[in-house]
Amino acid sequence: MSTHNNQFYFFANWKMYLDFNEANILAHAIASEHKQFSANVKMAIFPNALSLYTAGQTLKDVGIAVGGQNVFWEDKGGYTGEISATMYQAAGCDYALVGHSERRHQFHETNHEVRQKMQAVLESGLTPVLCVGETLKEREDGKTEEVVEIQLRSALQDIVWPTDRELIIAYEPVWAISKGAGANEAGKHCDDVEAERVHKMIREFSAGLIKLDPVVLFGGSVRPPTTDYYLRQLNVNGILVGAASTQLESFMGILSNIK
Ligand code: PEP
Repeated sequence: MSTHNNQFYFFANWKMYLDFNEANILAHAIASEHKQFSANVKMAIFPNALSLYTAGQTLKDVGIAVGGQNVFWEDKGGYTGEISATMYQAAGCDYALVGHSERRHQFHETNHEVRQKMQAVLESGLTPVLCVGETLKEREDGKTEEVVEIQLRSALQDIVWPTDRELIIAYEPVWAISKGAGANEAGKHCDDVEAERVHKMIREFSAGLIKLDPVVLFGGSVRPPTTDYYLRQLNVNGILVGAASTQLESFMGILSNIK
């Protein structure tokens, strides 16, 4: 069993795949299927910042939380184009992704910046979803554990963790994430043994830094048929899904494979 407090987590990162209309249409379509939701699946969706408020109103009515995909660490000021954690919180978010690999690798976000964002997210009242994972080269060099430990230590060590907040970490091997403009091309397959090995390490290492049993999610080209494949693992508490969460059929396909 890999539930955490009797729940599986299904978190959906819509990235920049859907525009305002598309995100709102999908939010309505998902909400209209709410009779198929199950109390043992905790859901959150991360739409783009422009559609987050309206899509969030629809989703929250049916028990789906929303979150920001990226935050800036200052609250307010002359930071053109940025959005702070407190602003996401005021717009109705419960969560924020922090350190997603697309931020780290395409926008050169450093471990130091990830730490600043973690701190700002916690101070704003949101729950961070800390994303960690190694590149293909790092994996081939046998450095997976080393890289993930550095990411965890720099984000979590000596941080004051509020007692009302869960510790949620997403393991997303960069090489396993979907690719291509439509992202219909899956990344390389991360097998269950490898995912479980890294999840176990993440659980033990992060529990040593923050005295909490973390929720550890797997992300990397999860599709309806592979949902149960990962969730069967002892240390996989849920999934963070990108591409396959952006279409109603695959979103519901994943959900039905969780039960
Ligand atoms: C992600 O990047 O958070 C992710 C899991 O993407 P995908 O499911 O598309 O691989």
